[in-house]
Amino acid sequence: MMPSEPEEDYIPWIQQYCELFGHDYFVQVSQDFIEDDFNLTGLSQQVPYYREALYTILDYQVETAEDHNNDPTNEPRGGSSSNSKRNPAELPNKALLAHSAELLYGLIHARYIVSKQGLTAMASKFERNDFGSCPRYFCDGMHLIPVGSTDVPGQETVRLFCPCCNDIYIPSSSRYLNIDGAFFGTTFPGLLVKMFPEIENQCRIRINKFSQNDFGLKLFGFKINELSATGPRMKWLRMHPKTEEEKQEYNSCEYNVPVSYLEDDDDMDEEDDDEEELDEEDDDDKTMASE
Ligand SMILES: [Zn+2]
Repeated sequence: MMPSEPEEDYIPWIQQYCELFGHDYFVQVSQDFIEDDFNLTGLSQQVPYYREALYTILDYQVETAEDHNNDPTNEPRGGSSSNSKRNPAELPNKALLAHSAELLYGLIHARYIVSKQGLTAMASKFERNDFGSCPRYFCDGMHLIPVGSTDVPGQETVRLFCPCCNDIYIPSSSRYLNIDGAFFGTTFPGLLVKMFPEIENQCRIRINKFSQNDFGLKLFGFKINELSATGPRMKWLRMHPKTEEEKQEYNSCEYNVPVSYLEDDDDMDEEDDDEEELDEEDDDDKTMASE
């Protein structure tokens, strides 16, 4: 209807989306990234009205059910593209299309920020402290990194990861409480820390800055005995492994399933297999008997 009129105050969809209230964790995905089909592999199955959503993000004109209803002549807009000849029942309505476009952008965003270009963009946001600081005293204002607890959209909202205490926090402002965590994904924080060793360096400085003796509970300047009932009993929760031995112990606790468990599992699997074989034999017997 008015394709050329509003060009002066025309704002691209992506910029508009990233400037919305509560969307300040997002970076603007570059047009090149979106136009490369390789980067969008598999997304067409996850997003309803995928093609229309993609066109919306890229600022192409998309016909919606409303446009069709408001146009009495039903004349296709924008020439004779195959898109405008579609059955009006197949056209998305505006609200649905907006939702699809946001979902698609979020999923593309999660992929973009683990690419070189996106990582760099997010790193400068991290540097500017756009994601906020860790509330823990010993983390000394360490900058936080957005993270999703799952890569499946619609499950959980965005969380913030502190590379210093390795804890995950809920954003302090409610404006982020409807931002999908999957739009940042589970891979991003680990990759950011790996690609920018400076982040780990900042953590090391903080961990070394506070020696165990400087802080902790005190009464009139005297340290409370660690064995005391009112002593610092939860201190071990915040301790970092220092010697090789401690590190090994830590790794085996965090990441390894105890060996005895694994052995039990194997035994159980074997038993299951045996049972299945027996069942099959039983079945054979029955069929033979009935014949
Ligand atoms: Zn922290």
